Amino acid sequence: MSKVVVVTGAGGVLCSTLAKALAKQGHKIAVLDLKKEAAAKVAEEISAEGGHAIGVVANVLEKASLEAAKAEVNEKLGACDILVNGAGGNHPLGTTSNPHLLETDLENTTEGFKTFFDLDPKGIEFVFNLNFIGTLLPTQIFAKDMVGKKGCSILNISSMNAFTPLTKIPAYSGAKAAVSNFTQWLAVHFSKVGIRVNALAPGFFLTEQNRTLLTNEDGSLTQRGQQIIDQTPMGRYGVPEDLVSTTLYLCDDASAFVTGVVIPIDGGFSAYSGV
Ligand code: NAD
Repeated sequence: MSKVVVVTGAGGVLCSTLAKALAKQGHKIAVLDLKKEAAAKVAEEISAEGGHAIGVVANVLEKASLEAAKAEVNEKLGACDILVNGAGGNHPLGTTSNPHLLETDLENTTEGFKTFFDLDPKGIEFVFNLNFIGTLLPTQIFAKDMVGKKGCSILNISSMNAFTPLTKIPAYSGAKAAVSNFTQWLAVHFSKVGIRVNALAPGFFLTEQNRTLLTNEDGSLTQRGQQIIDQTPMGRYGVPEDLVSTTLYLCDDASAFVTGVVIPIDGGFSAYSGV
């Protein structure tokens, strides 16, 4: 059955792939993104392949912007059945330069060098807001359409670092842990009104957000990039298509009795102790 699906952050690398896969199932897609051109481009690509999609500009951190987006979706596609909360990411201001603090770090005067003590609360706040509030607000706006309807669900995008924090990125790790926790909370809260809530926890995918952390200018892996491969039993980074089948399953009635789960898609990263 064709459903109305809103995908936030769908102008980006991972969620554009998910939006396209959901469109191939015959669903009508609202490609929602802060970047107008990115949203329009993905919607055009879906339409060019025979799918039904519209690009919608909205900021997941602003209620008024989301209300306007909902009105546009309702008018052009109908009431929302499925919400994929894909907008999210990290920020350099919430990132330390080194994985571990060393005594000598306190005397390091290199420009841009950042210890835990230098982290800017504004950077931490940005990352927490984008990932957590940016999941909560769209849910407040779009899930109202789903109450009491059949076959509705929400899919959040958490991360591997929600299970065990990654070095250097305390804000992003904490924010995604909050997204996983919220997924469970919401699954329970919405359980009597027919809305299932689940999440993906992607491992490592080479995208614009992490390219400079994981690769050098010549394309070779940084030390951190290599460390990730060494810690991933399947020995590779993920590709966006790796997320598709689990997304389709969690958004489909095939998973009608599944709610509150966070599924790792990580090539075994989270299962491996490193020894
Ligand atoms: P991306 O940067 O390619 O896409 C994110 C999209 O969100 C962009 O198009 C951006 O314009 C949009 N966006 C940013 N702020 C917004 C806002 N305030 N309102 C609306 N849209 C906004 O990133 P990606 O790698 O495709 O990541 C998608 C999701 O997957 C994110 O939640 C990310 O945290 C998560 N994730 C990514 C990885 C990875 O390895 N890339 C791993 C785990 C989880």
